[in-house]
Amino acid sequence: MGKQKKERLHDIIGIACGVFLLIVLVASIISANTTKTVGDANVSADAVTLTGSAPGRNGPVDVEIVADAEKIYQISVTNHEETEGIGTVAVEKLPVAIYENQSLEVDAIAGATITSDAIKAAVVNALESGGLDPAVFQRAVSAAEPVEKTDVELDCDVVVVGAGGAGLTASVLATQQGEDVILLEKMPFVGGNSLRAEGGMNAADTKVEAELGITDSTVENFVDDTMRLGHDLANRELVQTLAENSAEAVDWLFSIDAPLTKVVATGGTTHKYLHKPEDGAPVGEYLVEKLKAQAEKLGIDVRVNTKATEILMENGQAVGVKAEDAEHNYIIHAKSVVITAGGFGSNFELMASYDPSLANAVTTNHAGATGDGIKMAQAVGADTVDMEQIQLHPTVIQQDGTLVSESVRSHGAIIVNTEGKRFVNDLAGRDVVSQAELKQPDGYCFIIFDQHLYDEVELTHKFVERGFAITGKTYEELAQNMGLKGEAVQNFVNTMTTWNESVAKGEDAEWGRNNGMDDDLSTAPFYAIKIAPGIHHTMGGIKINSNAEVISTEGNVIPGLFAAGETTGGIHGGNRVGGNAVCDFIVFGRIAGQSAADFAKSAAVKPAA
Ligand code: ADP
Repeated sequence: MGKQKKERLHDIIGIACGVFLLIVLVASIISANTTKTVGDANVSADAVTLTGSAPGRNGPVDVEIVADAEKIYQISVTNHEETEGIGTVAVEKLPVAIYENQSLEVDAIAGATITSDAIKAAVVNALESGGLDPAVFQRAVSAAEPVEKTDVELDCDVVVVGAGGAGLTASVLATQQGEDVILLEKMPFVGGNSLRAEGGMNAADTKVEAELGITDSTVENFVDDTMRLGHDLANRELVQTLAENSAEAVDWLFSIDAPLTKVVATGGTTHKYLHKPEDGAPVGEYLVEKLKAQAEKLGIDVRVNTKATEILMENGQAVGVKAEDAEHNYIIHAKSVVITAGGFGSNFELMASYDPSLANAVTTNHAGATGDGIKMAQAVGADTVDMEQIQLHPTVIQQDGTLVSESVRSHGAIIVNTEGKRFVNDLAGRDVVSQAELKQPDGYCFIIFDQHLYDEVELTHKFVERGFAITGKTYEELAQNMGLKGEAVQNFVNTMTTWNESVAKGEDAEWGRNNGMDDDLSTAPFYAIKIAPGIHHTMGGIKINSNAEVISTEGNVIPGLFAAGETTGGIHGGNRVGGNAVCDFIVFGRIAGQSAADFAKSAAVKPAA
């Protein structure tokens, strides 16, 4: 072949490769939010391709199916915005389960119920769009064959129970100290309640604040605010530890590529402590993603779908845990044990034992928040504190426990009752607003916003897409659509007019609100979401000291046993300040990781006989 021809051939091959790579790139971008098609290439002559859609947690979930009246041959989720690591687990697994069982009665993926239900509803929608009867696929799913579990023994330096914010932090820290860590997580994904934190992390006297010229955010102010807002019930020593270590914790986050660079005020505090990601992203998702990446980078043995059931003790010292997954019973030997299994805001029986009125309450908590860590620690003699202190959040959508975060009110939304009236400073502490709501008629209220706020605050879109918002072109029409009766309609119109006047004056003479008043609520159409208080955070739990060591009912340290995060008590007292849960899981997660690593090093030691 002549030189010129060869060069031309090279050029053609080069261009072809380039085009191919481009196609691959575009295809991978397009498929970033889609699943591969699940199913069978051999389809009947009657089969048709159908599309369907249903609202998920963050937006519409679209599916495409190939089906006839008797069989679903193929399913793919063609578009979704579900949360990475949670909803995406359902997106990956549920189509497989539906196809393999030819049934829509398959179990939802634990912890991802909204996405699972959305996929099922989208399939129903697709079937119906083609005139196929979804009832055919409502068949019972045969129970899985019972598995004979294998016994497995594992060894490590530090075993950590629960992979939320505290567990991930403790594991990363202990690994950074050279320890060999096993991190257990009973759910199909890491993150727990931490993943749901939207606001930020409180921290005092940080370098970030210094750079922003904030000089009055001191450890002393942080401690005073936390104590005062927690009704002076918290353990001051723990709060002091929290505040004193918060700046270093923020530095540490920078060091693991998780910078929090914005600082704003949070509800009720006297100064600015709330540190957020630069782009204002929800802090929980952001930090869990970064901590998870760090755990992967460090090669930590993270085991999802693995539930710890018992702390192993030898001569009064914690020496490991028992755990199980679908196929194994584990005995995990460890030099130290860290409990970071979160709170009990999804354990209604346990909550009702402290406050019977909570038996039927709605919760914002993930399904895994059942208090396992507290129960396991109690079983080996740990003491608990403040178990009856259960925080309600005032703006929870009752249908499914979705939280309408404070930021909607911070941008100008107000709360009205079924008489069409405001009844509280809508941006007072969570406890104050929740208690005021509980005194209103009918057991529910409405959060109200307008089109301008909707356009400004993106997180409101999901409420509308999921059908939670009631709308009206005028205040009167909105009131009627909200079901307000008689004079409540006129009351509502008056409330809105008065509120807009208050915003114009910059003064809420009625209820003394002094923030979130930059914009009025005058741009039609108008929106209302029905809300009531819901369980948010269990502030009590395992008793610890400032080293995250677990304290027994006799008041002694239980050697080898450490705890951090929502599983512990004493840090929030009677009311948790927004931003302090994240501070708690990072600060005490680090302390627990460090203490457990130190103990593991010293306790190459066998437990004393
Ligand atoms: P924190 O903010 O204190 O980290 P999270 O709720 O974020 O609390 O995390 C606690 C984690 O512990 C959750 O992911 C939860 O599923 C997990 N967990 C709870 N009980 C167990 C258990 N018995 N075994 C393993 N993991 C558990």
